[in-house]
Amino acid sequence: MKDMVHNQNQVEKQTAADVWSRCMQIVKEEVNNETYASLFEPIVPLVLRDNTLTIQVPSHGVYEYIEENYVDLLRRVIRKELGPSGKLTYSIIAVRKPEVTETAMPGYRPYTKNPSSKMPVNNGGGATVYSPYMYPGMPQQINIQSQLQENYSFENFVEGECNRLARSAGFAVAEKPGLTAFNPLFIYSKSGLGKTHLANAIGLEIKKLHPEKVVLYVHSEQFCQQFQDACKNNDLNNFIHFYQMLDVLLFDDVQFLAKREKMQDAFFHIFSHMQTQKKQLVIMSDCAPSEIKGFADRLVNRFKWGLSADLQMPDLPTRLAILRKMVSYQGMKIPEDVIEYLAYTITTSVRELEGALITLHAQSTLNRKEISVELARQQIDKYVKCNNREVSIEYIIKKVCDYYGILVSDVSSKTRKREIVQARQLAMFFAKKLTKHSLATIGMMCGKKDHATVLHACKTIENLLATNRDIKREYEEIEKIIKEQ
Ligand code: ADP
Ligand code: MG
Repeated sequence: MKDMVHNQNQVEKQTAADVWSRCMQIVKEEVNNETYASLFEPIVPLVLRDNTLTIQVPSHGVYEYIEENYVDLLRRVIRKELGPSGKLTYSIIAVRKPEVTETAMPGYRPYTKNPSSKMPVNNGGGATVYSPYMYPGMPQQINIQSQLQENYSFENFVEGECNRLARSAGFAVAEKPGLTAFNPLFIYSKSGLGKTHLANAIGLEIKKLHPEKVVLYVHSEQFCQQFQDACKNNDLNNFIHFYQMLDVLLFDDVQFLAKREKMQDAFFHIFSHMQTQKKQLVIMSDCAPSEIKGFADRLVNRFKWGLSADLQMPDLPTRLAILRKMVSYQGMKIPEDVIEYLAYTITTSVRELEGALITLHAQSTLNRKEISVELARQQIDKYVKCNNREVSIEYIIKKVCDYYGILVSDVSSKTRKREIVQARQLAMFFAKKLTKHSLATIGMMCGKKDHATVLHACKTIENLLATNRDIKREYEEIEKIIKEQ
C-alpha cells in the first residue's frame, strides 16, 4: 500500500516532457525513421495532470492519422509509463479554435469508448467529453457535449454534383430541425466520402441557428458501449430516456448495429419517440436503407420514412476545390501542379485525397523537401501499394507514353500523328478495361475527347488485337507494366 502511494507520488512529480520522451524512446524503435520524423517528432508534450498526458499535434488530419494507425502502440507506451489508468489527450493546433479532444484510453477517439467511468471525464485542459447518458434526470439544464467537430462545418464542406442533394437536405434540416419532411435524413455512402463531416456540419449549423436545441452527435459504437454499460448497471430506462430528451440526434455509422437486436430495440424506441415528438434524426450509413442487412424490418421501414441521399466520389473539379479548400484552411503551401496531380490521381475517396495532402505536407516541412509533382508521385506510389487502389487513368497514360517514348502532353494535343493517335487509343482502351471510370471521364482525361471517341478507340484496338500480332505483343507488355504498379 505504501509502495502504491509512493509510486503515485512519483508519477505526479514527473513532467509531461519526461513521460513523453520515454514514450518516444519506445516509439522510435518500433516505427521507421521517416514516420518517426514526420509524425512523432513534431508532437509537443503539454501537460501531465491526473495521470493524463496532453500532447499537441499540428492538425486534425495528423491526429486522425495517428489515431488510426498507432492506436495500439500509443496505448501500450502510455500504459507502460503511466500505469493502467494512464490517458492521452490531444490538443490540435491547426483548427480555427483550439480544440482539445479527449480519448478515454490512449488511442481511442472520443466517441469510441469511455469504458470505466460513469462520471464526466475531465482532462484538466479544456473540453470534457461526457458519456451522454450520465445525465438522465437533468432535464432542461442539459449541459451535454454535442461531440461536434468545429472544423467539419458547412463552410468547409465543398459542394458538388456528388453531394448536392444530401448537402441541401442537410441544410434544410438545420434550418428547421424536426419540421421538414426529411425525418429521418438518411445519408449513405462508401467510406471516406464525407458522411461524418456532413453530420457534424448539420449539428454545428443547428447550434448556430438554434442555440437552445440539444444536439448530440454519436457514433454507433459509442452508443453500443453505453448500452452495454447501462445493461450491466440495470440502467436501461435512463439510457433510453436520455436519448429521448434530445432535440437532434446525429447517429453515425448505423450499420454497426446490424445483428445487434437488443441495441436495435433500444434505438427503435428512441427513434419512434423522437419522430412523434418532431425531433430531428440524421442517420449515417454505409449503404441505402433498401440494401441494409441485419436490421429488423420495423427499423428499416422507419429508415425509409424520410429522405435518403447518397454521397458519391467527387468529380475532378470538386476534388480540385476540396484540395484547395484544405490547403488554404490548413495554411499549407502546395504548388498548383501538385494539387492538380493529386486531384487527377486519387479517385478513391476524399479521405485518401486528404491523407495524401497531409503526408506530402509533413514530408516537405519535416524533411525539408520541396513539394513537387515528383515528390507527390513517390508518396502516392507508396500509398497506392498499401491501399491496393485501382490504377488511375493518369498512370495508364504515363505508362503507355513511356513505352512508346512519347510525351504525356502529346496525348492531350490535337496532333493526328499515327503513333500518338494509337497511343491515345491504347490508353483509352486500358482505362476502360482497368478502371471503373465512365467513357466521358476517360475521354476528358485522354485529350478532352468525348465518349463516342473513346468507344471508337476501344473498337479500333479490339480489332487490331485480333489481327495484328505486334500490337498484341505490345499490348501485353504494357498491361504487365501497368499492373506491376
Ligand atoms: P465518411 O464519414 O463518409 O467515412 P468523412 O466525413 O470522415 O467520411 O470524410 C473524410 C474526410 O474527407 C474528412 O476529413 C472530410 O472533412 C473530408 N471531406 C469529405 N467530403 C468533403 C467535401 N465535400 N468537402 C470538403 N471535405 C470533405
Ligand atoms: Mg464516418
